[in-house]
Amino acid sequence: MERDIYNEDHEAFRDVVREFIKRYATNEKRMQWDRDGEIDRQTLLAAGESGIIGLAVPEEFGGAGMLQDYRFRAIVNEEVIGAGLGSLAGALGIQDDLAVPYIVHMGTQEQKEKWLPRMATGEILGALAMTEPGAGSDLRGIRTTAKKVDGGYMVNGAKTFISSGKTADIIVTFVKTGEGNRPDAFSLLILEDGMEGFDHGRKLEKMGFHGWDTAELSFSDVFVPEANLIGGKEGLGFIQLMMNLPLERLSIGVSAAAAAQAALTWTLDYTKSREAFGQPVLDFQNTRFRLADMATTVDVMWAYIDRALMLYKDAKLTPEEAAKVKFWSTDREWEVLDIGVQLHGGYGYITEYPIARAFLDARVHRIYGGTNEIMREIVGRQLAGKR
Ligand SMILES: Cc1cc2nc3c(=O)[nH]c(=O)nc-3n(C[C@H](O)[C@H](O)[C@H](O)COP(=O)(O)OP(=O)(O)OC[C@H]3O[C@@H](n4cnc5c(N)ncnc54)[C@H](O)[C@@H]3O)c2cc1C
Repeated sequence: MERDIYNEDHEAFRDVVREFIKRYATNEKRMQWDRDGEIDRQTLLAAGESGIIGLAVPEEFGGAGMLQDYRFRAIVNEEVIGAGLGSLAGALGIQDDLAVPYIVHMGTQEQKEKWLPRMATGEILGALAMTEPGAGSDLRGIRTTAKKVDGGYMVNGAKTFISSGKTADIIVTFVKTGEGNRPDAFSLLILEDGMEGFDHGRKLEKMGFHGWDTAELSFSDVFVPEANLIGGKEGLGFIQLMMNLPLERLSIGVSAAAAAQAALTWTLDYTKSREAFGQPVLDFQNTRFRLADMATTVDVMWAYIDRALMLYKDAKLTPEEAAKVKFWSTDREWEVLDIGVQLHGGYGYITEYPIARAFLDARVHRIYGGTNEIMREIVGRQLAGKR
C-alpha cells in the first residue's frame, strides 16, 4: 500500500541516508561492529558530517531542528534497518531519541550550549540510564541516590542494561534526590565520562544487536556539579521521563515496522532464488500465502505508524497512544520476522543472513522502552479510568 506521509524534502533526505550507508556502513563494517560489540566513532562522526545524527538539535546549535517532525528519523530507521544494520540504527536512535531530546526540551541554556553542538556532529554521544539491577518496570524503585553537597550532588549507585553505556560521553541519569517514591523525589543528572568514581563497567553479551554496546554503570561518590541537573531544578526527573517516553515508544514502533518491511523484502528475494523439488520456493502455495500475510501486516503497520507520526508532529500523540503503537507494532514485528526466518529454512538461522540478525534484534523490542505488559497496563488503566 502506497504511503503518503513523505514530501520531496523527506525523499531528498532519504537519498542522503542511502549515500551515507553506501560510503560508510558497508557489510564489512557491520561485521567489525559485531566483533567489537560497538559502533566505531569514525562512523558516527561521518553520520554527523552527513547530517543524519542529532537531527533534533535546533539549528542555532548546529543541528537540523527536526525534533517534532519525526519523519526524518523514521527515514533513517527505514534505510539503516533495511540495509541489515540494526546495531547502527540502535546507536543512532539512542543519541537522537533518548539523549538529545532531554537537553533540547528540558535543558538549561548553558546545558544546550555545552553539549548540543557536539551532539549534532557525533563528537559527543549520549545515553539514558534509568534501569537498575533491582528496578526496571518499577522505576520508582531505583536506589541510585544524588545527595546535595556544596556546588552539586554526590551520586552513588548502579545502572544496568544501558544502551550505548560503554561508548557514551554523557549519560542522562535518573537518580533519587528526595525521600520516598513520590514523583518529585527524582531528578535527571548528566554524568560525564571521566568523572571520578564513574565506571562504565561491563559490556553485556546479548542475544541480538551484537554491534551495539549495552553496559552496566556504577557510581561511587561521583561529584556532579549543579549545572548538570537537567532543567536546573530538582524533583522534575519523573515528569521529564514521562514527557519523552512517547517519543521513545514511537521510535521503537517505527523500528519494528522498518524491520518487518525489510524482512518481507529479504524473504521475497530469497524465496525467488531458492529452489526445492525442482521449483523456486516462492512457487509453493504455502510460501505465497505466508508472504501475503507478511505483506498485509506490514501495510497495516505502516498505516498505523504513519498516523502516529503525523499525530506526533502535531504534538497530539498521547502516552497511551504511544504505548499502543509500541506493543502492537513490536508484537506484529515478531510474527512477521518469524515467518521470514521460517521461509529462509536453515539459512534463516545463520547470522550471516540479515533475517536472522533482525529476528534476534527484534526480541528486545518487546522488552525495552517499557515491556509490552507495561504498555498494555498503561492502555488498560486508561480504559478503566484509572490513569
Ligand atoms: C538490550 C537492552 C537495552 C536496554 N537499554 C536501556 C537503556 O538504554 N536505558 C535504560 O534505562 N534501560 C534499558 N534497558 C532496560 C529495559 O528498559 C528493562 O529491561 C525493561 O524496562 C524491563 O525491566 P526489567 O528488566 O527490570 O524487568 P522487570 O520489571 O523485572 O519485569 C519482569 C517481567 O515482569 C513483568 N512485569 C513487571 N511489572 C509488571 C506489571 N505491573 N504488570 C504486569 N507485568 C509486569 C514484565 O513485563 C516482565 O515480563 C534495556 C534492556 C535491554 C535488554
